[in-house]
Amino acid sequence: MIQSLFEKLMVRFTALIVIILLVLSFSVTYLFENYYFEAKKDEFFTLGQKLAAIVADTLAKGNYFYTVSAMSQVDMVLQMIDEKVWFTDTEGMIKAANAGEKWLGMQLQKEAIAQVLRGNMVAMRGKVEFFEEPVLMVAVPISIQDPIARTIRVEGAVFVYSPIAGIVGIIQKLRQLLIFLGLGVLALSVIISYQFSKSISKPLKSISSAAIKMADGKYDVQVDVTSKDEIGRLAENFNFLVKKLEDNVRMQREFVANVSHELRTPLTSIRGYIKALRDGVYEDEDSPTEYCNIVMDEVDRMNRLVTDLLDLSKIESGIIAFKLREFDVEDLLKRTIGSMGSILSKGNYQVEFQLQDSLAQAWGDPDRIGQVLINLVRNAVKHSEYGSRIWIRAREEHKLIRIEVEDEGTGIPENELEHIWNRFHKVDKARTRGEEEGTGLGLAIVKEIIDRHEGTVDVKSVVGEGSVFSFTLQKA
Ligand code: ADP
Repeated sequence: MIQSLFEKLMVRFTALIVIILLVLSFSVTYLFENYYFEAKKDEFFTLGQKLAAIVADTLAKGNYFYTVSAMSQVDMVLQMIDEKVWFTDTEGMIKAANAGEKWLGMQLQKEAIAQVLRGNMVAMRGKVEFFEEPVLMVAVPISIQDPIARTIRVEGAVFVYSPIAGIVGIIQKLRQLLIFLGLGVLALSVIISYQFSKSISKPLKSISSAAIKMADGKYDVQVDVTSKDEIGRLAENFNFLVKKLEDNVRMQREFVANVSHELRTPLTSIRGYIKALRDGVYEDEDSPTEYCNIVMDEVDRMNRLVTDLLDLSKIESGIIAFKLREFDVEDLLKRTIGSMGSILSKGNYQVEFQLQDSLAQAWGDPDRIGQVLINLVRNAVKHSEYGSRIWIRAREEHKLIRIEVEDEGTGIPENELEHIWNRFHKVDKARTRGEEEGTGLGLAIVKEIIDRHEGTVDVKSVVGEGSVFSFTLQKA
């Protein structure tokens, strides 16, 4: 079973190289062989034609002088060459040969010479009659032209041949060379694939060991990123993931710590007052009622905290299904503010609507958007003086609808603005007017709901002048 990346790469590389070498070796030797034999064949034909011409000339002239002169010409040619030559008559009998006496008088088979006697030049390669070893052989007809009858007469043939063992040897050497070359390339490929697989597997190994550490709850792991390729990007993304997970785990821990803290404070206070009541330790006779009121307030505060937490977790985990639909913004804003009548009138807050004419319908869950508005208006009330004005605005912005809640309250310091959306973040407890202490979850719920609507939240604030909270919704 092939396991490691190195082994896998090696096997593939080797297979590829072997295939390439085989193809290369076959095609190179084939081409070389062909080229060699074609060249040799042409050379043999030329030689054969030359010899046939001399013999034909002699036969045509047919006198003593020509015969002697032709013989010496043939001898001269034969002395200059390594190839073996036979001269046959029209019956296929070897009449002359430079390859030794043993061939003289031998009879070639009729079929073997039939073609050449018809006046064609013939080339043969491989096993030929009389020879053990394969040869390259060409046959050229000795033809005489009859100038009167205008016919061509074949009087015999010239055979030129040579064993092909030489060329086979060369081809074998070529093959050997290719094999050596292949082994060299193979060795090189082992080195390259080793380096290559190392460069891939090193970051992968460190990612894998980092992942195991993370499974053990250790998030202080980072993978070294050196390359800019896919592996490098994977390592980079992994580091980003680790960072995110680390942040999440930290946030979770902080969350639990915050919840515990938020619950313990009222509990401690409640316990103190109940103990005082039980032990009868109080300043005057009005104290028991006052203590009970404080206990009630604390219980209310705990109740608000638990309700907000439940809301947030239900929205986050998707338990609350958002019923998205088309709705009328003006109608929703007016109804929601109407439902807050008692809070607003208690402090004599003046709510002013500034709504764009014929505003487009919005897309979302009107109940949840109503909750967002309540949280924002409540904050405005909490952080403004009695009798202050609160503006509710709505207008279209391209494909969006922006809804704003502006107050002329305390405002928020600039360095706090980016944190107020975080859970349990309270700017300054002393700033709120204390009747209803916040849980620090209101804006986190707002952000979560608007995120789920694919909208954005925004805040602008000037300390001492007021704040403008806004969010966007998609048009229907
Ligand atoms: P809380 O329940 O404490 O109001 P929020 O998440 O609604 O929690 O708000 C977070 C903090 O942002 C508040 O503690 C408050 O300090 C600040 N804040 C929110 N709205 C306003 C506002 N309209 N004016 C001034 N400060 C505000």
